[in-house]
Amino acid sequence: MKIHLPRSAQYAVKSLTGAGYQAYIVGGSVRDHLLGKTPSDYDVTTSALPEEVMALFAKDRLLTNGLKHGTVTLIKYGQPIEITTFRIDGEYEDGRHPDDVVFTGNLYEDVQRRDFTVNALCWNEQAGLIDYVGGEEDLENKIIRCVGEADVRFNEDALRILRALRFSSVLDFDIEADTARAVHDNRENLSKIAVERILTELKKLLCGARAESILLEYRDVLEVVMPELHALTADDYMLAARRVSLVSPVPELRLAALLSDLPVESANACVTRLKTSKVSRKFIESVIAYGKAPMPTDRAGMRRLAGRCGEELLLGLAEIRAAHITALCHMVVQQGDCVSLKQLAVKGDDLFRLGVTRRMIGDTLNGLLARVVEGELPNEKEALMDAVRADLNERAERAAAEKAASAGKKKRRRRGKGAQSAESAEISEAAAERADESVPETPGESDASVSIGAAQAGETENAARRDDEPERAEEQP
Ligand code: ATP
Ligand code: MG
Repeated sequence: MKIHLPRSAQYAVKSLTGAGYQAYIVGGSVRDHLLGKTPSDYDVTTSALPEEVMALFAKDRLLTNGLKHGTVTLIKYGQPIEITTFRIDGEYEDGRHPDDVVFTGNLYEDVQRRDFTVNALCWNEQAGLIDYVGGEEDLENKIIRCVGEADVRFNEDALRILRALRFSSVLDFDIEADTARAVHDNRENLSKIAVERILTELKKLLCGARAESILLEYRDVLEVVMPELHALTADDYMLAARRVSLVSPVPELRLAALLSDLPVESANACVTRLKTSKVSRKFIESVIAYGKAPMPTDRAGMRRLAGRCGEELLLGLAEIRAAHITALCHMVVQQGDCVSLKQLAVKGDDLFRLGVTRRMIGDTLNGLLARVVEGELPNEKEALMDAVRADLNERAERAAAEKAASAGKKKRRRRGKGAQSAESAEISEAAAERADESVPETPGESDASVSIGAAQAGETENAARRDDEPERAEEQP
């Protein structure tokens, strides 16, 4: 396999191998070459010790801020190349940094400390591809898998948890099952990681091709670094994840799209804790604050808004708002939300079996549909049947109470007419009671009381009789 290296990386590897050291390009640069992508940077791993590297490139521009971990950054032809000595990481007492690093002359040992198999591939002109951990196969199968035992690796350095999500999102790769489990299990360790390192990974993750599904599958992990997300309902979180995927892959915009349903104060608290740059923070906070007001729909209104918030913010605002509306449409359409009687989980027959009279079935179905559309009831048969039962019971109770009140009134009236003979009083009382039994006070109340009685007596067997009874009752004058 041949990798065509840029001049800077060629210079680094050739100088080292020419001086008798082992040197390979490694990690993301090999991975991206194999994927046909242009690497964002080049890393070189070498048997030369840091001081040997510095001596070899003494005439070149070098950065030595990574020296403690064996890294010398060579700046050649305007490009930085990180040259790191083969190393074995010592114990990770704090879950963030190895307490000490041990340099080794052995490439195999260096590969074992790397995070994922697809990041542990090495290459140089003479040796070709060196793959000690099955990285090439995982690359072909689009899999992110820890080198070694996932639990151990995430305990050593919890940032790898977020890196796993980041690579899965950016490369559109699956996370291997055991690695995925360990991501969830070890998520709390992320709280030990410096927020600057978290933000770097988070921004890349949010801009990745698979950001939406990562957000959905790993909400528990994301909430460790952004606890404010916990306040979102499952539906609102799903909407936020879709919104993220619909705005341009610009970190600030995606972060704002994720947080825009949160109250302004909690969104601000989140971006402040993540230590986004001052400019980003201002952008995100403003987009969210302006986004709480309705967006103008006419040109003059848009001019007024542009005058207040400026062009850049206006475009961000519009993107997030458009994404929000599109995300809502997707949820309604793709998830098949119930929007018509055809989709309602109960039919007229179901209601009829419950004791709703034929005359009331249409109204009851429409009433249920309205409540489902408003999100007051789930579109589930049992929940809808329960709602109808509760409604019928309430009507029946109300009818019974009104009936009792009206009987009481009549008795008091009769007592007031003391001149009447006992015999004639009895006759009229019996007549009044007969009238009460046969003539409903309002048709609706009669429906309810009869239906509930029938429903309690048993739903299926009595269905036919129940239908007759209220119909007859309604026919009475
Ligand atoms: P990219 O540069 O495209 O973001 P990359 O894989 O090159 O991705 P870097 O952060 O540049 O990632 O790291 C270079 C290499 O160093 C990785 O490929 C990996 O082998 C190793 N590495 C980086 N961070 C860690 C870590 N936290 N734990 C173990 N190995 C790591
Ligand atoms: Mg890199």
